[in-house]
Amino acid sequence: MSPTVRPFALDLSTPLSTADGEITERRGFLVGVDDPARGLGEATPLPGWTESFDACEAALRNPPAAWDRVDDALGDGRPATPAARHGYRLAVLDAAARDEERPLSAHLADRGGFEAPADTVPVNATVGDGSVEDTVAAAQRAAEAGFDTAKLKVGARSLSTDIDRVRAVLDAVDLAVRVDANGAWDRETASEAVEAFASFGVEYVEQPLPAGALSGLAALRGRGVGIAADESLGEHGVGALLAADGADVAELKPMALGGPDAAIDAARRLLDTGVDPVVTTTIDGAVARAAAVHVAAAVPDVRACGLSTGDMLVTDLGPDPSPTVDGAVRVPEGPGNVGSSFDGCLRD
Ligand SMILES: [Mg+2]
Repeated sequence: MSPTVRPFALDLSTPLSTADGEITERRGFLVGVDDPARGLGEATPLPGWTESFDACEAALRNPPAAWDRVDDALGDGRPATPAARHGYRLAVLDAAARDEERPLSAHLADRGGFEAPADTVPVNATVGDGSVEDTVAAAQRAAEAGFDTAKLKVGARSLSTDIDRVRAVLDAVDLAVRVDANGAWDRETASEAVEAFASFGVEYVEQPLPAGALSGLAALRGRGVGIAADESLGEHGVGALLAADGADVAELKPMALGGPDAAIDAARRLLDTGVDPVVTTTIDGAVARAAAVHVAAAVPDVRACGLSTGDMLVTDLGPDPSPTVDGAVRVPEGPGNVGSSFDGCLRD
């Protein structure tokens, strides 16, 4: 059955640097199915993490038969077009949850073998690169807005400056701090960074080494601070990350993994192996952000997630169904993902 596919473009509040250079908008597709109920999905490809916009559209216009089954597990197979699969599978899962008259989070919790999902999900504030003073000011604004956790971007400056930035934030603000180097460091710098951040009580160091360095990540574990994988998971998948013992924490991006179902299956595998999943968006529209919130709500006692990204868009698919309040997002309560509130988007 071919889904209804409608392209959209959403303006970013500030340009985003990607594997294909800077982008100023997020282009994607709304996806509609009508079996067994009406279902709505979103496919928003991101260069470096998923297929291209054109490949996404081609896959959506002619979805592989294997995508049709609600209980279809991805296993170790990583989809060639994860954003397209996400859009289609979200529509199918939304239809199933709406037919069951329960939230998508409950449907996904059942799939993962988890208890009842949470009503809210803690989220981190993101603090970009900046001077020591600017970093502290941004962290203070996050604390005043009610966040308990901040993720500081590091790796763009010298390690000694990044250490000063992190130390200044921990001295000035009562926040849990995690840092994300986006693969910027070599092994020697990463080793020094881990030693320093462990002594400060940083929660975890995300992607201290380039995506391909799974054994290098493994060697950084057990030194007093958690090691998180993000780009490594995108490049190698959950199976390879687990086989390498590469991380204490894994960032799950449903859009890059191939769907909310693939993300829940990955969360189950990670938790069974003692790795903590954290759910993050790929700076998506409101429909996919809500789906990521449902995924996170289904994960028991999930750590603060990277789901507070709606304000990175100037325009959106509709009113935010899961706004951030006091450092948490509320899980949409209606049946399915966002209920019927976005159905009109497909008809406009
Ligand atoms: Mg990251």
